[in-house]
Amino acid sequence: MKLEQLPQEFVKASVVIEEIEKHGFEAYFVGGSVRDTLLGKKSHDVDIATSAYPEEIKHIFKRTVDVGIDHGTVLVLHEEDQYEITTFRTESTYQDYRRPDHVTFVRSLEEDLKRRDFTINALAMDKEGTIIDLFHGLDDLQKGVIRAVGDPKERFHEDALRMMRGLRFASQLDFEIEKETLGAIYLFHSLLAKISVERIAIEFIKMLLGKNRQKGLTSFIETECYQSCPGLKERLTGLLAFSELPNRRIEEEGQAWTLLLKELNIASSDTRDFLKCWKLSNHLIHEVAELSFGLKQRLAGEWQAQELFRLGLEQSLSVEKIVPFYGQKADCEGTERKFSELPITERKQLRITGNDLLAEIDRQPGKWLGELIDRLEAAVINREVANDREQLLAFSRDFVKVEDES
Ligand code: ATP
Ligand code: MG
Repeated sequence: MKLEQLPQEFVKASVVIEEIEKHGFEAYFVGGSVRDTLLGKKSHDVDIATSAYPEEIKHIFKRTVDVGIDHGTVLVLHEEDQYEITTFRTESTYQDYRRPDHVTFVRSLEEDLKRRDFTINALAMDKEGTIIDLFHGLDDLQKGVIRAVGDPKERFHEDALRMMRGLRFASQLDFEIEKETLGAIYLFHSLLAKISVERIAIEFIKMLLGKNRQKGLTSFIETECYQSCPGLKERLTGLLAFSELPNRRIEEEGQAWTLLLKELNIASSDTRDFLKCWKLSNHLIHEVAELSFGLKQRLAGEWQAQELFRLGLEQSLSVEKIVPFYGQKADCEGTERKFSELPITERKQLRITGNDLLAEIDRQPGKWLGELIDRLEAAVINREVANDREQLLAFSRDFVKVEDES
């Protein structure tokens, strides 16, 4: 098969392939970019595989960066673009069910394609667009099938992460996992325990954000892969509930974790620990905690001014976009309008500062000051008092007086 019209990024990159060929080596487009192009999807990166060894690539091109020389990858800078060029390789002696002990560079494309995970990922394409399909990947691509290259048991035994990759492709591409491949995932699911949480999390989240999340999740549950994932082992009921949410697409990672936490019935006090087990960044954990708070409030009724203020516009809209999972209509316009009507959107917009208050009120600094500012902020947001220096001051004097009397 030949692609008649190559997408622009391949046309541009073919100059690099040509240059390698001029030096007597082979080079092809490989992996995800070929798969995605055949599916009519835009691919984000163009990967190139070659028979030239890394040193030979560095000799051919003037501007290169060693990005993964041990694995045979050299980054070639060409005009304003950059390309990852990886030497054909085989991987051997997977002693611990994860990354290979060592890679061996080879001169044969076939050897290189053989070590790839799934047939749809083992396609290569030359610079003219001719597809090299040694494992019936085109057939599987057309039928929508995820099938391991070679014996699935061997392949998952070599590298257990491939099982999670299979599940995420099922979701991302809305493909079926072939029977033997699925059976091997079920058989070897417990090997996932050998894989680092970070690498599992990458595939897990891609699965949750995929086009047919339900499909990926159902297989994730049925093959029992969830049992080797942080915090999920004892949570089958919640996971099933999560997999039964309407099969709408989830747009962002924070939203995915928020929905998952809710379905797993994880209390807000346990959110942090759960997400820490997944090794998420503090930034993301904070976002998920805020979205979870927002979702709870929003499902209980209309947005309150103080909730919008706390979340900010971006997070409020992010919550709005997931209320349809619970049968409510998203009202992004209404949310934006309400947000724009807030008297203030940040504390620093208060027309009085802590220093002003200390100067005007005859009292030593203390806990009362923070409490007063919190109160002022809430009062302005709820329109109990105008955001005006004199009025804020009068309000503050009353506040202190009441405190003194009590
Ligand atoms: P994405 O679109 O998410 O980048 P991808 O298929 O390109 O998907 P990458 O992780 O970028 O995934 O890997 C590039 C290629 O390398 C794959 O298409 C596959 O051929 C091969 N590959 C990646 N990970 C593995 C693995 N664990 N085992 C075997 N081959 C793999
Ligand atoms: Mg890729």
